[in-house]
Amino acid sequence: MVYDVYEMVIGLEVHVELKTETKIFCSCSTAFGAEPNTQCCPVCMGLPGALPTLNKKAVEYAIKAGLALNCDINRYTRMDRKNYFYPDLPKAYQISQYDLPLCKNGYVEIESSGKRKKIGITRIHLEEDAGKLIHDADAGTLIDCNRCGVPLIEIVSEPDIRSAEEAVTYVKSLRSILLYTGVSDVKMQEGSLRCDVNLSVRRRGDSMLGNRCELKNINSFRFIAEAIEYEFRRQVDAVERGELIVIETRRFDQNDGKTYAMRPKEDAGEYRFFPEPDIPAFLISDDYISKIAVELPMLPDAKKEMLMVKYGLTKYDAELLTENPSRCEYYEFAASKTNYPKILANIMISELTECACLPDAEMLAQICNFSGEERINSNTAKKLLTSLLNGDKRTPEDIIREENLEQISSVEALMPFVEEAIAGNQKSVNDYKAGKSAALKAIVGSVMRSTSGRANAVKVSEILADVLK
Ligand code: ADP
Ligand code: ZN
Ligand code: MG
Repeated sequence: MVYDVYEMVIGLEVHVELKTETKIFCSCSTAFGAEPNTQCCPVCMGLPGALPTLNKKAVEYAIKAGLALNCDINRYTRMDRKNYFYPDLPKAYQISQYDLPLCKNGYVEIESSGKRKKIGITRIHLEEDAGKLIHDADAGTLIDCNRCGVPLIEIVSEPDIRSAEEAVTYVKSLRSILLYTGVSDVKMQEGSLRCDVNLSVRRRGDSMLGNRCELKNINSFRFIAEAIEYEFRRQVDAVERGELIVIETRRFDQNDGKTYAMRPKEDAGEYRFFPEPDIPAFLISDDYISKIAVELPMLPDAKKEMLMVKYGLTKYDAELLTENPSRCEYYEFAASKTNYPKILANIMISELTECACLPDAEMLAQICNFSGEERINSNTAKKLLTSLLNGDKRTPEDIIREENLEQISSVEALMPFVEEAIAGNQKSVNDYKAGKSAALKAIVGSVMRSTSGRANAVKVSEILADVLK
């Protein structure tokens, strides 16, 4: 296959909105979802004469993100003016950073196809978001300036990524780390995390980079993967035909999964960057950085290790439980209330992943205890969990007592049900005796039914194996 001779080279630019209360240069609210154009003022609209004031919280959050992503923090830094015209940017320039970004030389460690790998982070800079254009069939294109001036960080990776899987894993790791730091809510659907993919191809073994295309408008993990797979083949096909890859910005169309040329890639020179005259360059002290560093929580990778050691969880379980910090916190709290943290992990992973609103942790811990002590079987545990999720106010203990759900495990108590099941399933009994061990299942099932699901299935199998010897 011709595609096997080539490799893809990918670098990502990830834009993340910071969760500050107010915008980066004015005191307008950053709340998502307000009526269009109700959260703007002369500063974020860029009216003549209006002067910006840098939001200290935005600087703090950007540094926090940088520390969590293993970056060096520039002690001397500055905002720069990036000039361009686009209808979503009434000022006709964006205040960003150019050659002195807040953070540089970081990395994220990812695990893809079982291998660990570091993806370098070239730099993280602070900038303001632009407004949002709404294309309406009747009214034409409308502009909502509420987003103008919302603080953003742009996280630029080295071209270290070699597959769609690595790209997706990288963004997922970034998202999880940023969630833990609390600097952003990183919601792809709401656009608080947005991602541009830069991709080039080259023959395997070559050391020179090929010409890259920048893919925009990708707003889900699935689309990141689709856009990459499509663009890789498009570029390889072009190279194979002897064409030169045009360096350009392309748009991903989620309807047909293809990418389309939008515009030639602008050169940095065309933006006429210059130091922002309205905001003086500033110094960041070691003290200030240390203060932010001590506030950093334990990050997902370390958390994962901790859960594996402390609760004996598998790597897979620990990974799922640490994806989201609030779920992880819930797990740790509930785990402190039960002697069966593995049962708790199983329930959270198999029964509660889709569940937006987690049940009362102490009640859930009780269910785990009863389960672990074998007072109830897994059927009953599920039943109790359902009652809990449906808002049943009784404790699991009460429900077990009132509805007589205690597991039946003793041989004396089970024997009558076992005998009845043997009498009623002669065919299975004969099959089993003839060597079809799977036939036992039907007889166990019959006991489960006659006990309304309360029998200890393992015990029943043991008794049956013994009786039918
Ligand atoms: P721009 O704003 O012009 O897109 P940036 O420096 O912000 O430039 O981002 C460039 C991104 O493209 C980085 O993530 C970098 O790793 C990636 N990149 C640069 N050259 C290549 C290449 N030849 N192939 C793939 N990715 C590349
Ligand atoms: Zn404003
Ligand atoms: Mg770019």
